[in-house]
Amino acid sequence: QGRVRFENVSFAYESGGRPILHDLSFEIPPGRTVAVVGPSGAGKSTLARLLYRFYDVPAGAGRITVDGQDIREVTQASLRAAIGIVPQDTVLFNDTVAYNIGYGRPSATPAEIEGAARSAHIHDFIAGTPQGYATMVGERGLKLSGGEKQRVAIARTLLKNPPILIFDEATSALDSANERAIQAELQSAARGKTALVIAHRLSTVVDAHEIVVLEHGRVAERGSHAALLAHG
Ligand code: ADP
Ligand code: ADP
Repeated sequence: QGRVRFENVSFAYESGGRPILHDLSFEIPPGRTVAVVGPSGAGKSTLARLLYRFYDVPAGAGRITVDGQDIREVTQASLRAAIGIVPQDTVLFNDTVAYNIGYGRPSATPAEIEGAARSAHIHDFIAGTPQGYATMVGERGLKLSGGEKQRVAIARTLLKNPPILIFDEATSALDSANERAIQAELQSAARGKTALVIAHRLSTVVDAHEIVVLEHGRVAERGSHAALLAHG
């Protein structure tokens, strides 16, 4: 379950405006990871936003399907129950870290929230404060860096545990040591799930089933990590 297909998708942010994606087709087989790499402005985030339906593919401009069904034909709520996204720019509520991780999941227990926090290595920066974990659950409006916010967004998605995952440069705000640690967590979280991983460097997506190189909204190349490296 969880086959994702982009079928001849074209998209512009304004109707009649500059096209961002051109007749784009690719598939993520169920339980596999497909990585999309390419230069800034190529349209990578745009295709992630279309899959999560922040925007819709216009009628007649192709379609995106999940398990064969056009995502415009299911409710946004049921689509989003099946998909978790870690967006590039995370906006958090002015509340505690624990609230932000558990938001929208009222049945989550404190132990589950703490488990997700641990997987996203949130305790590393919480542990530096005198109250430790209590700070995370008790203090509102914590001043977090970009990388810390990103880890909160990752924990949120790990807690949601959906069958389909979208990581949009999810670790780009982290320093390299943290990036490696979280990358390993994300890889284990994605095991057995359908995952769309957007990355700016080929080296962070070695494990992907397939890598799609996007340039100017078109597929410039696709293949395994090894095959793409061989081409240069
Ligand atoms: P990437 O993720 O590959 O860097 P994006 O999908 O963010 O690329 O952007 C592709 C193009 O779409 C860029 O030219 C960008 O300026 C434009 N763009 C992105 N978001 C919007 C938006 N909300 N409205 C209008 N244009 C946008
Ligand atoms: P969930 O599916 O986990 O309940 P949401 O659907 O509320 O979460 O949002 C998922 C993520 O997408 C959040 O991190 C939110 O900040 C971000 N987000 C919400 N709206 C947009 C948007 N228009 N463009 C990009 N990111 C967004």
